[in-house]
This record gives sequence, C-alpha cells and structure tokens, in this order.
Amino acid sequence: MTATKTEKRIQATLIPGDGIGPEITEAVVTILDAVGAPFQWETQQGGVAAIKDRGDPLPQPLLDSIRRTKLALKGPLTTPVGGGFRSVNVRLREEFELYANVRPARTIMPGGRYEDIDLVLVRENIEGLYVAFEHYIPIGDDPHAVALGSGVNTRAGCRRIAKYAFDYALKNGRKKVTIIHKANVMKILTGLFLETAREVAKEYEGKVECNDRIVDACAMQLVLDPWQFDVLLATNLFGDILSDEMAGLVGGLGLAPGANIGADTAIFEAVHGSAPDIAGKGIANPTALLFAACMMLDHVGRGELAQRVRKAIDQTLKQDKILTGDLGGKASTAQYAKAVVARLS
Ligand code: NAD
Repeated sequence: MTATKTEKRIQATLIPGDGIGPEITEAVVTILDAVGAPFQWETQQGGVAAIKDRGDPLPQPLLDSIRRTKLALKGPLTTPVGGGFRSVNVRLREEFELYANVRPARTIMPGGRYEDIDLVLVRENIEGLYVAFEHYIPIGDDPHAVALGSGVNTRAGCRRIAKYAFDYALKNGRKKVTIIHKANVMKILTGLFLETAREVAKEYEGKVECNDRIVDACAMQLVLDPWQFDVLLATNLFGDILSDEMAGLVGGLGLAPGANIGADTAIFEAVHGSAPDIAGKGIANPTALLFAACMMLDHVGRGELAQRVRKAIDQTLKQDKILTGDLGGKASTAQYAKAVVARLS
C-alpha cells in the first residue's frame, strides 16, 4: 500500500550514505512504501560517496535539502579514524543544532542474554568532548609529542538536554531519569552537567524520579542489572559509549535506532556505522534504520503506521524467524525486507 493521493505528502531528505547504507536504505524505503508512509523523498549524497562526486562529505545540496525539509532519514556515513575529514555526523548535528540524541534499547528477540530490556538513552549531542578542540604540542623533532583536547559544556546546553530528557520521560510514561557523569574527576566539565540536571529534576519532583551514576559504575551496572534503569541522561561521549553497550544488551547494533532532534529539525539514523566489513554483500540487517524510520513516523504524528511496522518486524523476527546473519540467521537484506512487507499486507 502506498500513501493515498489525497494525503498530504511530507517532504523529507533521504541520505543513503556509505558502506551498507544504500542496501539498508533501499530495504527501509520499500517497507515504508508498503505501509503507506507519507514521505516524499529528496535523495542526497553525503559521506565518502559525496567526496568522490563533489569533493565534500557534506555537500551544499544536502544541507540545502535538510534546511528546506527539516526532516531526514540518514544511512551511516564513514569517517576516517585519526586523520582525514571531521566526522560528518558531528558536523550535521552542529549545523542543525540537533542537541538531543535519543537512543532506545528494547528487547525484541527473546532468548538473548537479557530479557525485557526497555531503556532509553538521551544524549547531549553537540557539546562535551565532541567539540574536538584538539591540538598537538611539538617537542624537539616530534611534532606530536603532546596531544591536548578540551570539552565544552554550557549551563544552557545542559539545561536544554536535561529538560528534553525529563519531558521525554513524562510524555512517554517513563518513571525515572538517571544522570550520568564523571563529576568526581572531571569536576567542572561534567560537574556542571550534573548540577544543572539536578536543578531541572526539581521541576519534575513528584512526576519523574531522578538519581545519578558515575559513568564507569553505570557501565558495570548496565551489565549486572540493566532493569534498574529507565531513561539515562548523558553527556556526548559517555552517551555514545553507553548507547552502544545498551545496543549490546538487546542483540547488537543491527537493532538499535537513534534520533537527532533540534528545535525545528530532526535526523533519524541507526546507531551503527557503515559496516565496511559486510558492505556490498547484501547481508546487512536493516532493522535499526527501520526502527529509526518508525521514530520518524512518530515524530510526524503517524504513530499508528510506526506501530504497524514495529509489529511486522516483531512477527518477522519471532514468528517467521527470518533473520539476517548478525542475529544468527541466513536471510539477505532483501529477503528480510520482503518478509516484513508480507507481514504488513
Ligand atoms: P560499525 O557499526 O559500522 O560496525 C561494527 C560491527 O557491527 C561490524 O562488524 C559490522 O559488520 C556490524 N554491523 C553494524 N551494523 C550492522 C548491520 N546493520 N547489520 C549487520 N551487522 C552490522 O562500526 P565501525 O566499524 O566502528 O565503523 C565503521 C564506519 O562507520 C566508521 O567510519 C565510523 O566513523 C562510521 N560510523 C558512522 C556512524 C553514523 O553514521 N551515525 C555511526 C558509527 C560509526
């Protein structure tokens, strides 16, 4: 089923991205078409694909498109480790002030190491150590003898993300927000985050509980007893690390979606990267990007379509047992997409 002709179409930017990006994006668009999602896609190149054609991983037409649509579904973009260009993902978040990164982790496949996980990480997305103010100090003939890096947290930025997390908890019937920090060592950088988030928590007293955890203890507690957590509120780097750990609790990166939210623009993506080791083989799991597309449907007020897709994913994985390799199955990306579409009809 495609969106009816009379229904208002919603312009959205589609960035297939690098590595497995084009394969999983194609699968997701097929499934979105099948459920009748109202998106009118503007496809744009970004990442390594765009460097080849335009000499810039974040070319102007891509930026113009997102500025116009204020909504995007993005495949993973490759960033070289160490040298090379600055992370395109980080640049995109900064460009559109996408200050909140929302990463849910929910058990879908039974029989894993953990059952009944239902967590959401709200990560500050444009401050902290990710501002990457870094440089070397040369000593003698070693130009890289010393490496320096600093982070930036602002009270306004901490307040904005803390409010987002508590509002998210209220709106989604969540009971508790745990503030993650390292204020015992980084007393100023993450101390300000903790102090400000605690102040915001007072405005939600009686409605949403609040506690806090030092990041290393939190990482261990997530493995020992993840059910004690509900919404986790973290600075940029800690949130990035913990959200991958949380993806591991529920079956790996192939199932973990994320939303980058700003005041007027939102970009939806999988938590995972471009998976160069399996790119071009047609075996990548498109579910994480598909869940991200479900968050995008929720975002535009089409939660009923998102629920239908989520139910079809559930049935495909649990009842039909059509699984891609990362989940222990043998299905190709296309076979899996076809199975989800069959469950939608
Ligand atoms: P990765 O997430 O790409 O891959 C890690 C492992 O998980 C690999 O073994 C990969 O095969 C597997 N995997 C990931 N997604 C999968 C899927 N959908 N189905 C099946 N298996 C999957 O992490 P990496 O190798 O560290 O990074 C590769 C590149 O991606 C880097 O350039 C990195 O900068 C970039 N990256 C981009 C984003 C983004 O665009 N948001 C996020 C993370 C990493």
